[in-house]
Amino acid sequence: MTMPPKRKERAAKTGGARPAVEALKKAGCRGCPALCCHDMVEPISRPQTSHDVEELKWQLQYDTIRVFIRSHRWHVIVQGRCMYLTDDNLCSIYDRRPERCRQHNPPDCERYGEFWDVMINTPEELDAYLQKEKRRRSRRRKKRRQARQS
Ligand code: SF4
Ligand code: SF4
Repeated sequence: MTMPPKRKERAAKTGGARPAVEALKKAGCRGCPALCCHDMVEPISRPQTSHDVEELKWQLQYDTIRVFIRSHRWHVIVQGRCMYLTDDNLCSIYDRRPERCRQHNPPDCERYGEFWDVMINTPEELDAYLQKEKRRRSRRRKKRRQARQS
């Protein structure tokens, strides 16, 4: 899969590689252009029905929307910029920032490389992922059947 422009842009910002954990802990948020304040991430349910899949595909048509899966949990990312972020990329409401912002910390964040297991950028990538998942499930079922019969 070629790297889509949105991901290329992020890889350029993060340098692509995931630096050593100790170095990450020391760096913290210092020098980061507040990447996490530019994306809104919201948990979503895994699409179950064909209607759900069509809805999600429709959302993925927009270049500000992506979906990622991490530890089997699905999330939607909406690109944007928080209204409380200053021109210097600082939080203007730091002392009363929302709980979600308080819980988001390095090194488990956007700055330090891939934080997802699967990233889905387009409706076509969603179809491809779901097809792959279907094939995987069918192989697993077949193996279980064979194990029961032997
Ligand atoms: S949590 Fe991560 S992405 Fe957000 S400002 Fe800190 S280092 Fe940057
Ligand atoms: S409230 Fe502050 S920490 Fe939270 S996203 Fe906005 S600028 Fe970032």
